Amino acid sequence: MRTHITIGISCLLLPLVLFGCSKKEEPSKQSSKNQPTETVVQNNKQSSNTRKPLPKYSTGKLQVIAQPDDISVLVNKHNSLPETFNPKDLASLNIPFLASASTEKRQLRKEAATQLEKMVNAAKKDNIYLKGVSGYRSHETQKALFNRYVKRDGYAKARTYSALPGTSEHETGLSIDITGKDGTCAADDCFAQKPEAEWLAKHVQDFGFIIRYPKGKEKVTGYKYEPWHIRYVGVKIAKELTIKGITLEEYYLHS
Ligand SMILES: [Zn+2]
Repeated sequence: MRTHITIGISCLLLPLVLFGCSKKEEPSKQSSKNQPTETVVQNNKQSSNTRKPLPKYSTGKLQVIAQPDDISVLVNKHNSLPETFNPKDLASLNIPFLASASTEKRQLRKEAATQLEKMVNAAKKDNIYLKGVSGYRSHETQKALFNRYVKRDGYAKARTYSALPGTSEHETGLSIDITGKDGTCAADDCFAQKPEAEWLAKHVQDFGFIIRYPKGKEKVTGYKYEPWHIRYVGVKIAKELTIKGITLEEYYLHS
């Protein structure tokens, strides 16, 4: 008993000198064997160089985005949304969806939702009937999905076809997968041959959207060509990217 009391007193008296009495630090998530990608929190310090107003994004290590609410936010394999991020202004989309789409998927952030509805109505005038496949996806949904793939195929393989939670653009509430009236080729390569894909490629920018993963830019975006996945960035940036023929990565990192 006396020994215990002595040790206890030593712990109280010497914590600043000896570290052995303190509770061991919990192992960091980043050092988990299942999560080899290194994560760093973006440094929020303002740079003294004010000439470049664009947010800083990473091209290497996975970084947590400082301004996840930005309409033109860059989310990709190097830039992740914070784990606690949830868009505050989600709105239900008043457009046709595939019957299998959950209530969660039928949402986008307010501004993107309004513009998408306008776009779908404009397409109708050209006899193009667009349907939603999958819009917003919560962090929890992406996490559950990813973990299911890891369980089935292992972490390394799951990473090749599924986005790490926080890095799926669908979590922003600004991206949606679109298909045609009959729903064939939904989120599939064959969608590229459909008249709906042609219409999207020609008109999305007028409504503030971009084809986020264009053909020939696989190395820049980290994704294969997805003619069905459109992303809202606002009309001004959408038009600029279209005119210049660049991706959102190139807009931030190479311009
Ligand atoms: Zn998508």
